[in-house]
Amino acid sequence: MTTPATMTVTTKLAGSGPGDARDRAPQDRAPQDPPAPPLPPRSVPDALLYGARGLCPACGAGRLFSSYLKVSPYCPDCGEELYHHRADDAPPYATILLVGHIVVPLMVLVEEIYRPEVWVHLVLWLPLTLALCLCLLPPLKGMLVNLQWALRMHGFDPGSAEREGPPDGVVPVVRAVRPIR
Ligand SMILES: [Zn+2]
Repeated sequence: MTTPATMTVTTKLAGSGPGDARDRAPQDRAPQDPPAPPLPPRSVPDALLYGARGLCPACGAGRLFSSYLKVSPYCPDCGEELYHHRADDAPPYATILLVGHIVVPLMVLVEEIYRPEVWVHLVLWLPLTLALCLCLLPPLKGMLVNLQWALRMHGFDPGSAEREGPPDGVVPVVRAVRPIR
C-alpha cells in the first residue's frame, strides 16, 4: 500500500534519475560518444636514458637530433613525431644550473687552497665551463624532449589543443611496422 509519504519519496527518487539530465544545459550533459580508451603508459626512465644518449624516445634506435641541438621532426628510424616538443630555453637553464654547481665550488676550493693568480683561474675555469656547457647541452635537451614525450606533454598528447601539424616543408617519415606505444 502506498502512503502519501511513500509517494513523495518515490517522486523525489524519480526526479533525481535520468530525467534530470534532460533539464541540464547542453554543455553540462555527458557526451554521448564513449570515452576514448586510455593511452598506454610510457616509460619515463627509458625515455630519459634514450634522451641522454640522443636517441628517439619511442624506439631507442633513431637519432633524436639532426644536428648539434636541432631535434629531428620525425625519428629517422621509426617515424615517431618529435616536432611536438617544446624544450624552449629549459635545456640552457638546466645546463647553467648544473655547470654552475660544478665549476663554482671547484673555483672556490682552488682559491682557498692554492691562492693562484687571476690568470690561472681564467685559464682553468673558462675552458672548463665552455666544455661542460657544450657537452651537457645535448644530453640535457634530449632528456627534456624525451620526458615531454613520455609524459605526453604539449602536442605529444593526441587530445591536446597544443597539437600542431608538421612544420612547413617537412615530409613525414613513413613509420616502420612496430607495436603501437
Ligand atoms: Zn624512433
